[in-house]
Amino acid sequence: MRLRNKPWAGEYLAENPQIVIQDPQSYKGKWHEIFGNDHPIHIEVGTGKGQFVTGMGRANPSINYIGIELFESVIVHAVKKVKESEANNVKLLNVNANNLTEYFAPAEVSRVYLNFSDPWPKTKHEKRRLTYKTFLDLYKEILVEEGEIHFKTDNQGLFEYSLKSFSDYGLKLTYISLDLHNSDFEGNIMTEYEEKFSSKGQRIYRSEVKYEK
Ligand code: SAM
Repeated sequence: MRLRNKPWAGEYLAENPQIVIQDPQSYKGKWHEIFGNDHPIHIEVGTGKGQFVTGMGRANPSINYIGIELFESVIVHAVKKVKESEANNVKLLNVNANNLTEYFAPAEVSRVYLNFSDPWPKTKHEKRRLTYKTFLDLYKEILVEEGEIHFKTDNQGLFEYSLKSFSDYGLKLTYISLDLHNSDFEGNIMTEYEEKFSSKGQRIYRSEVKYEK
């Protein structure tokens, strides 16, 4: 993700606290209060500019979505999209996913989406990959029993690595496509990266795995 310095970004996020939740630690175990209902919560880790969470929110009004993005300069685009969509089932967190368990209580989340996660191709950076075992531990801690991870990427190396990581962890593979856009999968909502890479003719890989009891 190319980052442009946006000095106004912090201020813009603070001006939209109904969308970018401030002090998210204080909502641990109480996210239903933010949404005003008990609908299932799905999170997207590394939400980028927010097209996916916004589209999912619009398509699935009985699911609550939380997009998590590290960089202010990127998440501001997501805030604009959520605002325009007027969806009240989509919220954003400007935090590092390394600390997910500070924000969510055990079993508070029903599904984790990982879309076009940074591949970190060098072996010495393996621990930064969002499908590395320490992240799988974090997701397990906040997910419901049999919670799911849905993962899309254009990066074959990251996809292969992640399938092995899921398998080593004992996750059950319930869906796989090696060419999502030429598969019979229905209801795909494209992310910004997905649009960019697929328009260049790159294949999109997709998998679903679930934690077993
Ligand atoms: N999902 C979006 C898409 O498909 O268009 C963005 C993909 S971009 C390659 C990956 C995003 O994940 C970046 O915006 C990056 O800042 C974010 N990210 C990476 N590691 C993160 C972490 N530990 N916590 C929160 N966000 C993270």
